Amino acid sequence: MPRGRLIIISGPSGAGKSTVVAQLLRDCPLPLVLSVSATTRPPRPGEQDGVNYHFLTSQQFEERRRAGDFLECCEVFGLGYWYGTLKSEVSSGLAAGKWVILEIDVEGAMKVLPQAPEAVTVFVHPGSMEELERRLRGRGAESEEAIQRRLEIARHELTFANRYSHRVENRSVDQAVREICETLSRIRKGEECSKN
Ligand code: 5GP
Repeated sequence: MPRGRLIIISGPSGAGKSTVVAQLLRDCPLPLVLSVSATTRPPRPGEQDGVNYHFLTSQQFEERRRAGDFLECCEVFGLGYWYGTLKSEVSSGLAAGKWVILEIDVEGAMKVLPQAPEAVTVFVHPGSMEELERRLRGRGAESEEAIQRRLEIARHELTFANRYSHRVENRSVDQAVREICETLSRIRKGEECSKN
């Protein structure tokens, strides 16, 4: 069985990262699979346990952390909830030859990288802070305080962008998905050539 690959995708909230990842999984003809993280944050309307996240209580999360079940976990900057990548999600995907996508924050990514230096890292960039602010305000659903908080988190995340091997500007979701898929396809092709 071929061993798969690890792909880490990060980027500030409002950069459209989740939409890009969902469309990438749907449209890119590579054996991609999403690692379902664990979190202590409550589900949002429409989110399903085991599909979007494994929703855990703080106690369950702590027990799993003590048991060494996480590849990485952290209290995500500015949110006050814990999130973690389960080793079981990653190892089952890799063993099946899949390209396992971790959609995680920058601090989680920096913890995984030393353990998996061969991982492909992609930073989804919103373009500029002005563009990000325009998008966050365009959603129209949040208080000024919540928008300012998200912008603060985004500024923090953007300082990590140059630590990623690939940066993709999300001007349009279709284009960002195409770019990431092409990058991954090129890497796969390179691997196949080097085997022959
Ligand atoms: P949300 O609550 O909006 O789904 O996610 C909030 C943030 O947590 C996002 O930046 C997301 O990428 C990050 N995140 C989701 N799962 C994990 C994880 O397993 N580990 C880490 N470190 N961050 C995660």
